[in-house]
Amino acid sequence: MTAAELIGRLKFAGEVRLSEPMSMHTSLGIGGPADAMVFPENVGQLVDIVKGAWSEGVPAFIIGNGTNLLVKDGGIDGLVINLAKLDWIIKENVEGGDIAIRSGAGTPLPKLANFCADEGLSGLEFAAGIPGTVGGAVYMNAGAYGYEIKDILYKTLLIKEDGKASELIAGETRKEYRHGGIPENAAVAEAWFRLVPGDPGAIKARASEFIKKRRASQPLAEKSAGSTFKNPPGEKAWKLIEGAGLKGLSVGGAAVSGKHANFLINASGATAKDFIALMEIVKQKVKDKTGFDLEPEVKIVGRDWNA
Ligand SMILES: Cc1cc2nc3c(=O)[nH]c(=O)nc-3n(C[C@H](O)[C@H](O)[C@H](O)COP(=O)(O)OP(=O)(O)OC[C@H]3O[C@@H](n4cnc5c(N)ncnc54)[C@H](O)[C@@H]3O)c2cc1C
Repeated sequence: MTAAELIGRLKFAGEVRLSEPMSMHTSLGIGGPADAMVFPENVGQLVDIVKGAWSEGVPAFIIGNGTNLLVKDGGIDGLVINLAKLDWIIKENVEGGDIAIRSGAGTPLPKLANFCADEGLSGLEFAAGIPGTVGGAVYMNAGAYGYEIKDILYKTLLIKEDGKASELIAGETRKEYRHGGIPENAAVAEAWFRLVPGDPGAIKARASEFIKKRRASQPLAEKSAGSTFKNPPGEKAWKLIEGAGLKGLSVGGAAVSGKHANFLINASGATAKDFIALMEIVKQKVKDKTGFDLEPEVKIVGRDWNA
């Protein structure tokens, strides 16, 4: 069964786009078409589509804001489930009387960080400048300036590939650097964060400070997926790449940023093939010069052109 046939059979009521260019949904602006992209508007629609895809053997891939994705030039097989419309924030009490913020997976992190600051809740300041969604941040265990999502995550509502919903308490899974421990093929539908009361002015000032640091060190006007490689233990990937003399190196339209060496950018009409070739050269040259094996932080997905 094709993705389009599945959508028809399920009578999916949300927005559907067929043959949708992934370049429109990734911060890199790279990627061929998804066979079909659906935009569930609530958890019920998400459950139906995940379960339908699983029972009919149609591949399904979840995306948030596409800010950590490199999609190959041949696009994505089957369904892409875009969670942008699961965008809500609710203040709740959790066990122990603490205040938690409950948020839909598609909520942009900067929006959530601003909401928390206005409410006088501290803990998400580090995320104010991370351009992903709550779901993507939980999946990736996003982090910056010494803080990570796992430090404040209380629990998640997961939809497993068979459509079954379950709550996962954050402490029950192993979370690592840029790996949130979410089971394979499960969708994060909602997340709860435990935050600490604080002065809104001071919280906003801290968030602004982090954003200022970002503006000074990152090429935010360029198309990128943030850091391309993970930092090896005890090292900084950007230092290794800069030290190997690779700033400005390019393949086709892809280039190593001159501002931040671990930001590989789509400087001008890059294809995924250009980007992957550049990543391989960077990896090899860093290995030759320093002995470190750089691992991608960006998630590479999809099918090759002509595949
Ligand atoms: C300019 C810039 C700066 C950045 N700075 C940082 C930074 O400081 N720290 C940092 O950690 N990252 C940073 N990033 C990378 C990126 O923003 C984060 O990894 C972010 O958490 C990804 O969220 P997303 O919604 O865009 O996820 P996507 O890119 O859409 O997806 C990333 C992965 O998460 C999975 N996923 C997404 N949503 C869900 C869901 N609801 N359920 C299950 N799986 C899901 C996808 O399948 C994919 O494997 C930066 C990126 C850019 C472009």
